[in-house]
Amino acid sequence: MKVLRFDGLLQKKGWISPAYIRINAAGQIISISAHGPTNVDEIVPGWALPTVTNAHSHAFQYAMPLLAEDSKFAAADFWHWRHAMYALANKINPDQLECVAKRVYAEMLRVGYGWVIEFHYLHHDHKGQTYCNPAEMSERLIHAATEVGMGITLVPVFYKNSNFHTQALQAQRRFIFDGLDSYLKLVEGLTTRTSGLEKVKIGCGVHSMRAADMADIIYLMNQQQGPKHLHIAEQIKEVDDCLTALGARPVQWLCEHVNVNENINLIHAIHINSSEINQLLSAKANVVLCPSTEAYLGDGLFPLSSYVLGHGRWCIGSDSHIRLNPFEELRWLDYCQRLVHEHCIPFCNAQTMHPVAYAFEQVISNGRLAAGIKTDDYFAQDQALDCLVFSSTSGLLDTINLEHLLSTLIYRSDCHDLLGTLISGQWQITNQNHPDMEHIESAFKKTMLELR
Ligand SMILES: [Zn+2]
Repeated sequence: MKVLRFDGLLQKKGWISPAYIRINAAGQIISISAHGPTNVDEIVPGWALPTVTNAHSHAFQYAMPLLAEDSKFAAADFWHWRHAMYALANKINPDQLECVAKRVYAEMLRVGYGWVIEFHYLHHDHKGQTYCNPAEMSERLIHAATEVGMGITLVPVFYKNSNFHTQALQAQRRFIFDGLDSYLKLVEGLTTRTSGLEKVKIGCGVHSMRAADMADIIYLMNQQQGPKHLHIAEQIKEVDDCLTALGARPVQWLCEHVNVNENINLIHAIHINSSEINQLLSAKANVVLCPSTEAYLGDGLFPLSSYVLGHGRWCIGSDSHIRLNPFEELRWLDYCQRLVHEHCIPFCNAQTMHPVAYAFEQVISNGRLAAGIKTDDYFAQDQALDCLVFSSTSGLLDTINLEHLLSTLIYRSDCHDLLGTLISGQWQITNQNHPDMEHIESAFKKTMLELR
């Protein structure tokens, strides 16, 4: 058993300050109190927040900016960018994927993410053949996450078509399944093999409306168990194609044909109209927004203000990892709304609580549900002690009062204010560094040279 003392720890209701946390040998919380015992094992001079779930990741795309930024593909639009992404996807081998994933997951830990939802469609070998171990690439991602100390919900993604009623392209050969049977076998195998692992979960996903037959989307999204993820309306072209093929917009079609509920996570639900917003609100579905990637790719702006007014559920992801910082994602989300609506009320229309506390709760609670984790509070008995800690002695924070602390952390902090990240009660990041970073870094550099 161990007792840690923090200057403060954030719960849903607000700060506990000071906060004494007793944990067991496995790093699980035994108790939380503002009144401590006389003997404390570790005094942490900092403010503890729950680590953030990165609710949408394609780990291999972390290599993209380094390889594609200057290429002829980069400048035009999403669909041109996709050519560059396919070029990388068709090049990377399992060892290289694992190296890149380790680097990006270690970096996520450094900036405050503690769990990643990996939306994984790079299933097959370079010729599009199934690997001897059909879960080869999936297991590399799980291994990368567990090695660096990151929790992972792996979402193997079903992918079959290039567009509505159109066969997959040669460039998509590593992504596609010939039917649901082989996909479901992969999911079942992974679920069985990871069932005893505390920080690994397996979800279910469809790449997008355009990438699967309608019957398959209905079947997969109506599965009873666990979180389901789907790219939904990132680009206007997707909406137009859906209207042409199905006579309905993507969210509209989904809500009319699938039991959309709180386990359905719609990624990039950007191009939705007011009727679709209402459908999502009634269904209590979750929307995963990736503001930095959506801005980088010129996707468009999610109508957050209207959605928040109806108490819509949302959380964040870093998607292509053009930037990695959960607080920056939140700032992007908020600042774009301020610019569009010409006001400076943070997360406007959040009526029930302080807007910043509201935004943080969305990110934490809905992020966890999207990962298949149900919790009532940020920290509670039997939960692993996973937290990011901001230094209470940094110039920014040493005189702050609790009332303004969360807003200051979200709007003003940067990584220099971080003391580190605790995962299961152990320091996994200290001084901006992962203990295995030297090795992770050199393997990553070697991989990047190979991929150039
Ligand atoms: Zn994505």
